[in-house]
Amino acid sequence: MKAAVLETIDAPLVISEVELGPLGNGQVLVKILVSGVCGSQLQEIAGYKGNAKFVPHLLGHEGCGIVEKVGEGVTTVKKGDKVVMHWRKGEGIESDFPSYMYKGRKMSSGKVTTLSEYSIVSENRLTVAPKDTPNDFCALLGCGLSTALATIENEANVQRGESVLVVGVGGLGASLTKAASLAGANPIIALDIHDKETMAKSLGATHFFNSAKEDIKEALGKAGIKDVNVIVETSGSAESIRDTLPLLAGSGRYILVGQPKPGASVEIMNAVHLFGGEGKMIKATQGGQFAPARDIGRYIQKYAKTLDTSLLITHRTALDKINDAITMMREGKANRIMVDL
Ligand SMILES: [Zn+2]
Repeated sequence: MKAAVLETIDAPLVISEVELGPLGNGQVLVKILVSGVCGSQLQEIAGYKGNAKFVPHLLGHEGCGIVEKVGEGVTTVKKGDKVVMHWRKGEGIESDFPSYMYKGRKMSSGKVTTLSEYSIVSENRLTVAPKDTPNDFCALLGCGLSTALATIENEANVQRGESVLVVGVGGLGASLTKAASLAGANPIIALDIHDKETMAKSLGATHFFNSAKEDIKEALGKAGIKDVNVIVETSGSAESIRDTLPLLAGSGRYILVGQPKPGASVEIMNAVHLFGGEGKMIKATQGGQFAPARDIGRYIQKYAKTLDTSLLITHRTALDKINDAITMMREGKANRIMVDL
């Protein structure tokens, strides 16, 4: 089968033949229909995730596929099922790492990978979706969209009428803007270093500011917004965190979704402001604590028919062209890119 292989850190992915290994206990063979490319993959390619020692390996952690075959002990999915492929743990067995053959040598890989024609996946990284669930929606539930919904609904507990600032309107930021709008937040302010006003407003942002061109504090002041109840930071930039933290309201929640570079430090300006109001919270979230077994079925029921994923997806590509997609993401020219397998 064809797969995108991370062979060398900080180099283009290699599109190559990879041989599937044997199906072990608790493992499932999935034929992949579509996969999203998440910002995490850029970090993995750069070696930020402590993954340099594991190369070569496979990538991707949000996908939609069809179960081809199940290994011993698997009970939650069966051949022919449509599945959401997700990196957070759901129901079923936590299997060993799957094995593949690449260029004549054994290659191990993560418990879920999605940027290949087929994948061997740990049972607990799969959740069945009804057959009529749109493939793209299904794939987005693997990471980006679920992280956004869970961050807004659970982690930040956004209440109707609260103000939300989304910092960085890439793939995840776009989903967060939409999730804030679904939660009834108002105003919803989107901030990016690229001009993404039209896109952000189509997803429900009431304001958009370009932080490369204007000072966010001043811009908010001019718009009559003194501070913000919830800030969700997706860029992971230490400067961006430093500049937006002072905008937090008295009982505000600051949620870090984008991870800073290893070794990076963040400065808290005039730190006493953190004690204003009821006390402020800063939290580094793990996927919004999205719980596949609890949330995927619920999100499908609530949003599969009404949420227009074409607003979140800016590009589609074939696996062969994935390096172009990754370059576009790095340059901030794309939101979610879907890879059709
Ligand atoms: Zn992701």
